[in-house]
Parts: sequence; C-alpha cells; structure tokens
Amino acid sequence: MNRTDPPADPPSPVVRPPRRAPAIAGAVRPERIFRGIPVSAGIAIGPAFQASEPVPEFTQRKIPASDIEAQGSRLEAAVLQSRKQLTKLKARLGMLPEDSQAEIAPLMDAYLRMLGPSRLLRGARRRIGETLLSAEAAVLAEAEEIAGTILALPGTRAEDRASHRRHAEEVREIARRLVRNLTKTPFRSFAGLPEGGVLVCESLRPADAALLNPARLAGVATEEGGMEGHTSVMLRALGVPAVLGAPGIAHAAAPGDVVLVDGIAGQVVLNPSAARLVEARRAVTGFARERQRLAKLQRLPAETLDGEVVELQANFELPIELPLIAQSGAVGIGLLRTEFLFMNRDSVPDEDTQAESYRQVVEAMGGDPVTIRVLDWGGEKEIEALTAEGLVPDIADVNPALGVRGIRMLLRAPEVLETQLAALLRASVHGPVRVLLPMVTTVGEVRAAREAMERVARRLRRRGERVPDKLPPLGIMIETPGAALGADALALEADFFAIGTNDLTSYTLAVDRGDADVAALYDPLHPAVLRLVQFATEAALRLRMPVSVCGEIGGNPRLIPLLLGFGLRSFSMTASSVPRVKQVIRAVEIDACARLARRVMEQSDPGQIGVLLDEFAARVDQATR
Ligand code: PEP
Ligand code: MG
Repeated sequence: MNRTDPPADPPSPVVRPPRRAPAIAGAVRPERIFRGIPVSAGIAIGPAFQASEPVPEFTQRKIPASDIEAQGSRLEAAVLQSRKQLTKLKARLGMLPEDSQAEIAPLMDAYLRMLGPSRLLRGARRRIGETLLSAEAAVLAEAEEIAGTILALPGTRAEDRASHRRHAEEVREIARRLVRNLTKTPFRSFAGLPEGGVLVCESLRPADAALLNPARLAGVATEEGGMEGHTSVMLRALGVPAVLGAPGIAHAAAPGDVVLVDGIAGQVVLNPSAARLVEARRAVTGFARERQRLAKLQRLPAETLDGEVVELQANFELPIELPLIAQSGAVGIGLLRTEFLFMNRDSVPDEDTQAESYRQVVEAMGGDPVTIRVLDWGGEKEIEALTAEGLVPDIADVNPALGVRGIRMLLRAPEVLETQLAALLRASVHGPVRVLLPMVTTVGEVRAAREAMERVARRLRRRGERVPDKLPPLGIMIETPGAALGADALALEADFFAIGTNDLTSYTLAVDRGDADVAALYDPLHPAVLRLVQFATEAALRLRMPVSVCGEIGGNPRLIPLLLGFGLRSFSMTASSVPRVKQVIRAVEIDACARLARRVMEQSDPGQIGVLLDEFAARVDQATR
C-alpha cells in the first residue's frame, strides 16, 4: 500500500534499564554497531545471553515400502509429543501479563490445530505411503508445499502479504517442531538467562518467545526475523525492546559483552562506549515518561479542552488484533474488514462459519458497537475462493479498481451478500452491530442492499433464527468522489457514513494505491480530497446522521485537528494509534480546530497545508509536554 501519510505510530516504547550496571563496558572489547529492524520499541542495556540450539539432523530421506507403517507410527508419536509440549506451554502462559497471554494463546491454538486433522498431517502421511519418504522428510516437504501455496496467494496489500508470510511461517514452525521431536534433538533452553540479560541469537521462534520471562529479560537482538512475524508481535506484546534481522550480531557477541538494544532506531551496539551509555540512559528516562503518559490515557475520555466528546474506535483486520484493541482505549470497532474470512481458503465461508466469527468479535467487544463491512472484493483485494467458484470475473481481465468491486460484486452475486447478511443478523443478537457497504456510488445500491437485508431477516425468522426486531443500521463507505459529491442524496438512504479516505484519495487523484511509480502523487492533503471529505461530512451533519473517518488519516494525530475542524467527532483507526490521537484531542479546542480548517481550505498547495498542520501540531505538542 502506498500512502504518503506516515504509518501508524509505533507501539508505545518500553524501557528496560539494566538491572545491574554494565561496569566493564568497552573496557574489554571494542564498541561494534549492528543495524537491524526495530520490531519492539524501547531501549535495553544488559549482559549478552546466547542461547544456542542444536540443529536436528537426519540422513534417511527415502524408506523401503516395508517401513511405511513404522514411519507412520513415528510421525504419530511426534505429533502426540508436540501436542503435549504445546499444551504445557499454553498452560505456562499464565505467568505472563494478561495482554501478552491474549496475544500468544491464539497462536498456540493455531499450532495445536495443525497437529489435529490438518492438511499438513494428511499430506505428510500421504507422502510416507505414496512417495516412500521418511517421516521427517515427509513433514518438511509437505510444510514447504503448503507454505509455497500460501506465499503464492494473491495480495497486493502489504497487510495481506504480511499475513501470508506469518501463516507460512506457522506451518514451517510446526514442521520444525515435529522434526525436532522425530530426531529427538533438544530444544533451546533459557534457563541460564541472567536477570536483566539481553538475548542474542540467530533466530527466535514464536514458541521460544512465548517461553521468555519478560520479568528477567531486558531485550532481544537476532540475526533473522522481520517486523510482521509472530515473534515480533509477541515481543511487542511482552513489552521487550527488540531488534531483529541484524546480520552478524549473533556471531559477533561473546560472553561478558554488554549489549545495547535500541528498539526504536533499529540498532544494536556491542560494548557501547561510556558516552553512548550515558545517552542511552537519558533516552530510557524520556521513554519511561512517554509510556506512563500514554498508558494513563487509556481510561481517560477522548474529550477536547472545551468538552466536545469524540468517539475513537478501532479498525479490525485480523482476529489477532482483538487483545490490542481491548488495551488501546478504543470504544468499539468502527471498521471490521471481513476480507480476512474469505482469504487463504478454497471455498467461500458458509453462513455458520461467518456467524460464529462475527459473534466472537461482537462478544469480545462487550457491548461496544461493532461496524462490520460486507465483503470488499475487487480493486487490489483479490480473493481466490470467489474466482474459483466462478462468482466474480477474472480480476486480470478488467481494470479492477473501476470494475465490479465491493457492493457491485455483492449485488451481482446475491448468494454471497445474503449469506453474509444472514451471518451478520445472527451475530447482531449478541451485541450492537452496524452493517457497512463498501464502494457505494448510487442510491440504488443502498436500496437494493437494504431490501436484501430485510429479505434475509424474513427468511431467518421463518427458519426460527433469532433476529433483532429492529434491524442493524445500514451505512455506506464514502470512498469515491461520486459518493462524496452525491453525499446529500446518499444521506437520505443510508443510516451512517464511514469516510474511507484511502480509496477516496486514490480515486480522486487517479492514483493506484499499490503503484510505487505514482506513490508521490497519493496525497490525502490534496485540497480536492479534503473538499470531498468536508462536503460529505457536512451532508451527514445537516441530517444529524453519524459520520466517521475510517481511512488512514483518521488515525493520524497530525490530521485530527483539521478533521475536528470539519465537524467530525468519530474516528476509527489501527488500535495502536488510539492513545496518540486521544492525546491530541485532549489538548485542543474546537474553535482553534475550526480556524485551522478555514485556513487550510483556503490553500491550493498540499505542501502548504502540511506546513499549517505541522505548525498546529507543534503547538499541541508543546501543550502536552
Ligand atoms: C478506505 O478506502 O479508506 C478504507 C477504509 O477501506 P479499505 O482501506 O479497506 O479499502
Ligand atoms: Mg476502501
């Protein structure tokens, strides 16, 4: 995804001061600096701890036919053992802070599922029997094939690619565990980790990360790994500063070294100089203050200085985000993208499967509203199962951004829309649900979708299902210039607006969201985009109809004062952005925001608009210090 807005702010930095002073820093070995990927913010200083892991070895790949049964039994024994290990590991999660548990437990469940009736095990058994592979070779070959299939899945969005990589890594991880158990190779042990130590190793698996005791561990530095992997997610959940993918670090570190991990700059320093240590300690104190400030915000209301209450909700892309949403201070979900349910599978999910997924989210939100968008197929979001079932045209044959996308596709494939609406209506008896339509451009589309919802409700009632008497509000995305300019007419048909500035920017400026060549032209601060946002907002406000922004700019603290100045009072964003957005809201007055909006709307140059926003942000920043 190419967006000129800065990405969501990194998770709040964490500080790990050394538990014992690195008294001999730099005295024995010279300072060495390594660059890597900053995956978990914060700074750690501590003695290096190297946990090496023996590599499993097996030589036998092919087996005689007489050995098939024995290899099958070995595989079953390894599966049983792996299940026991993971169940034990899951039980030990109780030691971790609650939010970390919530982060890690679903991954353990995913591993355990793969050790049940899964494609991995079916395939491995078949390979033993049909291609005469040893159990180890069969598991590895099958895992590689599955990982390859997952990685080849279409997905131009960075989020989709990241999810594919994570999913592929889960399969490989379980295969490695099985091989380790088949070959009886010992696992890595963290027993010797000194208090306040920094773990330095070649790579760290998610299951290893789950074993780490964050109370003892100061930081992590590895040679392999990246931002989106589960290991990174877990290290962030554990609040352990970490830099992954720092080539050379594991081999350069030696016992007795002092390690400085800068999880913000993405730097690892072995044996830092005295001057660098002084600087690092100063940063440690600064981050501690920032963290405390943001943590305090979680329970405070999102209210401006002059008492305007603002609704801050979370965007939901994947179930793994639920615990993060709960911690963020967001009140409900303003945009649940349902594409995740349709991806990475061979067929379209049925009504029960969908109803169960939506119910889980609705219940997890404990009475806070959940806005669920029906499937937004098309544009850059291709979904193989839909193409395979002949429900949509081949995306390569059309201009996907201008073709049968979002509600257009759903109205042409009523079985997909009605199945999803049925599942949503069933979920709506468990808590407040709102239904959102993507890519609407005409009033006819809203009417047709409402009729479909009413039809489905009647059908469900005939079937004896519980459906609320008052059907959920039906809203629309404002994400095309047509919808924005036609907002006054659409406002008469829809129950709420969610302004999707990601596509709105793209369609207004004729810039493909995923095309790096025109990325510099993708600018939500372009006056044309801002005028459309303002126009649609005012159309909704005139009718006192709820309106929110759920595109990326809705989570950008720099743009929040401008959007407040337009009259907007509801934003939905990545969970991690909520605290900083709230901080800005609590530091501004609506009058000042309205003046800012007037000045901004007099400008013709996006650059100049950026300057005005930066000046305003600098004043807000001063006020929050
Ligand atoms: C948008 O277009 O701004 C939006 C929120 O929808 P998506 O990013 O899923 O297309
Ligand atoms: Mg969109």
